[in-house]
Amino acid sequence: MMYWIDSHCHINDEAFKDDLNEVLNRMAEGNILEAMIISSYIEDYEFAKTIGHEKISFKRSLGIYPGDVDDVDEKLFEEFERRFKEDDCKAIGEIGLDYHWRKDNIEKQKKVFEDQLALAKELQKPVIIHSRDAIDDTYEILSRYDVKGVMHCYSDDAKMALKFLDLGFYISMAGPVTWKKAVKELEVVHTVPLNRLLIETDCPYLAPSPMRGKRNEPSFVAYTGEKIANELGVETAELQKQLIENYHTLFGL
Ligand SMILES: [Zn+2]
Repeated sequence: MMYWIDSHCHINDEAFKDDLNEVLNRMAEGNILEAMIISSYIEDYEFAKTIGHEKISFKRSLGIYPGDVDDVDEKLFEEFERRFKEDDCKAIGEIGLDYHWRKDNIEKQKKVFEDQLALAKELQKPVIIHSRDAIDDTYEILSRYDVKGVMHCYSDDAKMALKFLDLGFYISMAGPVTWKKAVKELEVVHTVPLNRLLIETDCPYLAPSPMRGKRNEPSFVAYTGEKIANELGVETAELQKQLIENYHTLFGL
């Protein structure tokens, strides 16, 4: 039986604290039967371990978010490192560079990013990459590390996507691919080979059409999946089968 996977969600976010069980029930009803819960804080990661549903398989990742590097010292980094080594931690991420909000701490962002990439290589764990307004630097750094991973919520162009594919990376598309003006995003969908594609919600943000503007949740990943299947002219089940395989291959499941 085929089903959808949300390869990147934050259901451990405060946005879900009042109705998490209903959100999980809608996932099961919507046939979203696997999901990766992404944590940027140790408390969120520990909380993510307590999230479960009898019909859904949840995995977890942890990483220091580029927006949070100011707070990172040796002691905090060691706390993260200890969790990265846990079997439960299936990937290191989301990590990367974000120059959209901050440009005054680029060197620290790069250092924390590279320190985590070095660990990912040592531990042989995949990485989940966040890159916003920083794609050239992200590429330059990733090209120096022998790691595999995924460009999460990919928002750059198809030409750049090819370079990440060359590095062995997967490309993950989120809600914006369903939005009205998704020209660049659809070009990426047509460029990425099916066996290197993933989809995600990145909830609670970036809800796909027709839910745009609402709080996003994993059950909405089906809108993104259907849009891509439609765009590529493939059967839903065929896309689901490939996405399941990609997710399992990348994260070693
Ligand atoms: Zn995220």
